[in-house]
Amino acid sequence: MKIIDRLNKAREEGRTTFSFEYFSPKTAQGMVNLNDRIERMCSLNPDFVDITWGAGGSRPAATLEVVSNSQKVYGVETCMHLICTNNPTDKIDKALNEARACGNQNILALRGDPPHGQTEWSCCEGGLNYAVDLVKYIRKTHGDYFGIGVAGYPEKHPESPSIDLDIQYLKEKVDAGADFIVTQLFFDVPLFFDWVKKCRAAGINCPIIPGIMPIQAYASFKKNIVGLSVPQWILDGIEPIKSDDQAIRAFGIEVGIKMTKELIEGGVCGIHYYTFNLERSTRLILEGSGLVNKTDYIKKNMPWRSSFAEKR
Ligand code: FAD
Repeated sequence: MKIIDRLNKAREEGRTTFSFEYFSPKTAQGMVNLNDRIERMCSLNPDFVDITWGAGGSRPAATLEVVSNSQKVYGVETCMHLICTNNPTDKIDKALNEARACGNQNILALRGDPPHGQTEWSCCEGGLNYAVDLVKYIRKTHGDYFGIGVAGYPEKHPESPSIDLDIQYLKEKVDAGADFIVTQLFFDVPLFFDWVKKCRAAGINCPIIPGIMPIQAYASFKKNIVGLSVPQWILDGIEPIKSDDQAIRAFGIEVGIKMTKELIEGGVCGIHYYTFNLERSTRLILEGSGLVNKTDYIKKNMPWRSSFAEKR
């Protein structure tokens, strides 16, 4: 099923969707761990899961393996990321054909980060320049078979000279055939809603799914907030506990629940969680904000605890 159909159905039902992003693992053990995690997290009934594509271009087989497992074995609607970096069109054709062969019907079409070791992005020989070119290429080669998502940046893409120009290019991606937008992570909810207003004013009418990152460690928080606006209450809350991993995770859950509730209240169609391949924080945020039922999860995954959970 295409994600856009799922989003439309959820809107008719008055339901906010939720989805998870995973990155493709580097090792065989990483693959085993990720498969276990996806299987467990599928019992939360996500509307879809996304699997990233490494900009190094060295692990497309891992991405395709996770896509195939999620779609075929765990039966969850899966969205495969596909990038222009290091991907000439013959490799793009191969990836799209393999995705189709495992029943996958959703692609997040991206330009991609610069290859590892490079600071600037450049087009490879026989490749495509921008995400919009990839959207057009997928539509040209596969018609309407795939549902296509694209990336949006509430605080603009770092290379973009202005937010207005960035939104103009975002509109071009939608006009070229993208069905929905998933955003870069952010922490400032009012800023996100201002950006959505600007997108709507620019004529972008498709669903916009905010992407949020549960804070799970101080170092990765610091790494991921570069260039982002972070509300003072988050900075004030995190600095005094920065060397206490457990306290950071607990605070991250509190932040995630607050953001999730504010986004739902603001009327978003769905929320996308950057899981970083970890389960607990995302699950507790979903439970704490009422998007999933804790008792159902325990029944499915810890049946020995279910009678205890029901009594609580
Ligand atoms: P584009 O939309 O092509 O935009 C890139 C830049 O060019 C922007 O500054 C834009 O304003 C500008 N631009 C766009 N169109 C034009 C045009 N026609 N003419 C001139 N300028 C233009 N990276 C990975 O490597 N693998 C992943 O799996 C991955 N997943 C991601 C998932 C999400 C939800 C997001 C938000 C990002 C992800 N990224 C991933 C990172 C992404 O690839 C980078 O941010 C990349 O630098 C830009 O990709 P894009 O698709 O937004 O590019």
